[in-house]
Amino acid sequence: MSVDDLLSNSKRASSQGEHCPGADQAEEALARPEATPWQQAIARELLTLHRLRLGDYQASVKQGLLALEYFTASGDLLAQSNVHCTLALAFSDTALNEAALHHVLGAIEAARACANPTAEFWALSRSSLVHGAMGDAVRSVELGKQALALAEALHDPETSFTALNNLGDTYLTIARARLSRNEDASQPFKDGLVLMREAVGLAQEQENPFQEAIARTNLVSLLIGLGRYDEAREQGRQGKVLAKVHGYRSLEVDIDAQLAEMVRADGCFDEATAMMEAQLADPDVNDEPALLAKLHRSLYEMHKAGGRFAQSLAHHERLHAVTLLMTVQTAGLQAQMLINTIEIEQARHEVEKSQLEVRMERLRAEELDDQANTDPLTRLSNRRALDRELPWMMGRAEKGRRPLCAAMIDFDHFKQVNDDHGHAAGDQVLTVMASMLRTITRGTDLAVRVGGEEFLLVFAETSLAEATAACERLLTSIRGYDWESLAPGLTCTVSAGVAALEPHESVSVWLSRADSALYEAKHNGRDRVHAAKPDAATIC
Ligand code: GH3
Ligand code: MG
Ligand code: MG
Repeated sequence: MSVDDLLSNSKRASSQGEHCPGADQAEEALARPEATPWQQAIARELLTLHRLRLGDYQASVKQGLLALEYFTASGDLLAQSNVHCTLALAFSDTALNEAALHHVLGAIEAARACANPTAEFWALSRSSLVHGAMGDAVRSVELGKQALALAEALHDPETSFTALNNLGDTYLTIARARLSRNEDASQPFKDGLVLMREAVGLAQEQENPFQEAIARTNLVSLLIGLGRYDEAREQGRQGKVLAKVHGYRSLEVDIDAQLAEMVRADGCFDEATAMMEAQLADPDVNDEPALLAKLHRSLYEMHKAGGRFAQSLAHHERLHAVTLLMTVQTAGLQAQMLINTIEIEQARHEVEKSQLEVRMERLRAEELDDQANTDPLTRLSNRRALDRELPWMMGRAEKGRRPLCAAMIDFDHFKQVNDDHGHAAGDQVLTVMASMLRTITRGTDLAVRVGGEEFLLVFAETSLAEATAACERLLTSIRGYDWESLAPGLTCTVSAGVAALEPHESVSVWLSRADSALYEAKHNGRDRVHAAKPDAATIC
């Protein structure tokens, strides 16, 4: 099976609530050596949700942060929003509310930035859950209603189910909070019930057993709250069947506990006690500390009311131990999740550092290369640069049948300049010359210091007449320059020899023709330009 097949199977498993096989498929895709970084990130995104649903928060957060890392770097806003949503849930479930809030905001921001209403729905929906978990019921209902309105506009059963189930659950939380304050809770129970019935219907239509089992479990709670025990029992039975068939152990034991609570609420204490004791005997309950605590509390209360103080005390002690264990475990889990976050941050810094080092190394290499090709006094190109650039310029000229000219330029009586004004003044003259050469050449030309007081200009796309005229202008500038500003009594002139590249001519023949032209200029009295005639051999 290909990596893509594994990923799409894992995705399908996710939407069908089959998180065990879904996680296995995503893990296999991740382990494949041929998986690309993008495929790995997708596998991690899928694992974030699968692991969360299977209750492995640490693995969920770890994979989520790694996926987020990749999607942030690649600029994939939609994937960022999705991963933020799942991470928000993982942090919220482990009571790390600040981290949850951070991811919820990240999810909304990314969803709006990519103008994706489905992503915005999920972000709003998660945001509602996080605020609910933080005890802000009003904000939670408000966000839940916004999410539901968006879901209705989207006409998508998956989003609609989530909106209904979540808002229904929020009403359940509000109702329970009211009950604990001895206030009337019938309205939120009723509001929740309407939504939850719709959610069950949708999950059935979509043949999604996980969603159906969840919605039925919530429905049982709402029905119990309203005192509709018969219906609650029937819904509980159907939910249990689903949970058993598909292996949703935590939902199964949750429903059992609710049924026992109902028997207790009915006043059948002996039966309720027997049911709860039976649940405690089930080793699977040990994996559910919250449920264990609930059972021990109920048993402690019922034994106490029945005057069985020894049993009551035993359950109280167990309750205390479980509560303590939960606190320690939650703290440990929270610490581990935060450590994971820090480790991933650190890994990112390491990557950024090594990327910076590579960039620095490249800059250093470029600088060294630059130094090797530049004359230190004039900052013009040197012979080495000439050897590198010239074949390329000649190739282009020949291919495009464009003219290319070389001008060899040499200071007149430079030895005398040094002798009369000192070597330092001579150096300054060469520097002034360099800036003049830079002025008359274009980006496509080349100005090279080939030796002591000798320079070579290569004019691209320039005819012999144009190159000669350019050299004449240079000579005029040099003649007219205020050399006295460098040293009193200093005057400078140069001579130049220009040659146009002939078809199929070699570098050495071409440049030696420019050299000969320079020699002619010197020979004819200096301070002048001489243009070379085409080579006799190349004419014929
Ligand atoms: P010509 O007109 O025939 O070219 O005479 P010239 O004196 O310019 O020619 P020659 O080749 O005899 O002397 C070149 C002088 O250039 C000799 C050398 O001291 C000087 N020179 C070469 N490189 C530098 C440099 O980097 N700085 C200075 N100040 N002088 C240099
Ligand atoms: Mg000279
Ligand atoms: Mg010379």
